[in-house]
Amino acid sequence: MFRVLPRSLALLVILLWPALFGQAMMVHAEARPSRPGFAAGGAVVTQISLQQMGDSASLVVDLSEEVRAHATVLLEPRRLLLDFNGVRFHAPSLKVAEGDGLVREVRFGAFMAGQGRIVLDLGRPAVLSEQTFVPLAGGGARLVVQIAAATQEAFQSLARPPVDDLVTGTADSKAPSSALPLIMLDPGHGGIDTGATGPSGESEKTIVLQFALALKDRLEAGGKARVVMTRTSDVFVPLRDRVRMARQAKAQLFISLHADALADEDNVRGASIYVLSERATDERSARLADKENRADLVGGIDLKDDQDEVADILFDLARRESRAFSNQFARQLATTLPKATRMHKTPLRGAAFRVLRAPDIPSVLLELGYLTTSEDAKLMQTDEWRRETANAAAEAIERFIAERIDREKNKP
Ligand code: ZN
Repeated sequence: MFRVLPRSLALLVILLWPALFGQAMMVHAEARPSRPGFAAGGAVVTQISLQQMGDSASLVVDLSEEVRAHATVLLEPRRLLLDFNGVRFHAPSLKVAEGDGLVREVRFGAFMAGQGRIVLDLGRPAVLSEQTFVPLAGGGARLVVQIAAATQEAFQSLARPPVDDLVTGTADSKAPSSALPLIMLDPGHGGIDTGATGPSGESEKTIVLQFALALKDRLEAGGKARVVMTRTSDVFVPLRDRVRMARQAKAQLFISLHADALADEDNVRGASIYVLSERATDERSARLADKENRADLVGGIDLKDDQDEVADILFDLARRESRAFSNQFARQLATTLPKATRMHKTPLRGAAFRVLRAPDIPSVLLELGYLTTSEDAKLMQTDEWRRETANAAAEAIERFIAERIDREKNKP
């Protein structure tokens, strides 16, 4: 009897061999952990397969539990990366049939401690369009990742600067200036759009441009960052172009500068720091965001086709990370600015500012003060205020850069 059991097991293995390991036999040199499956904890990938048809592909990943993929794209050569936290691979490698499908090759393996990565080499630009889970009969979950062809432009817009960019910035103080982190300063309004107007006719567009130029000088003198501005003169720049410029320049931080006012609040004073939030923290923040978002209407921009142009899910994933960094920088600003300028009684707030919508760049909007309050309006036009406030803002920016560099260095 005890002889029959091993024999039937062997038969079973032989019968199932092509299904279980057939693909592994065809390709040998694949990235696979050398001791798969037995370490304690974490999810395990047991099977990966790919179906392709025309402009779409489905990658099917069988997991011991539900783990979502974090997608990134790389430009040259074109690749789509799917990262899974706490996932190990115990799956046969995968051979992709030759043809003109979107995906040319699939590799997977441990990327760093506690992180598994699937790399898809792409024949054409493509993005992750959807992730769905289906429960598996024997426990675990089947993740179906839909991949869709995209335009080169959409694909490129998703490519993120490698994290090394930040590390090389000041790891070596003699590094060329082009390796320094890039900060995008965005003086609000400009040209036809004057922004708010002060009691003596001062316009917001001029005050924020002067401040941005002072901040740029201070940052460049500090030698820890490169600075680019969305405008350096009195010109109109649509909101979406401000975001686009920051993304094209691969900025590591975007700071929009304003000095606004709400008509019914002429006694309010002090600076406020805003991060993107679909639901505003309070009613006046919502009104302020509405007001700032009207800049494009003021400038005569057609908003009809102004919408996110690529797969939402990628935006969501990148946005989560950027949001954490935006909050971190906002808190740093709230710490350093009071040294130089008066703050609003609730200095940290959130609202749906369109200019803060870059999904992959930490973005903050700084309202320097209230232009309709005469004390603030006067103050914001003095050299002393400008110099000290720029200095305090630069301090927060430099701290933010230093912390991000530390974090990248300490990654396993
Ligand atoms: Zn404004």
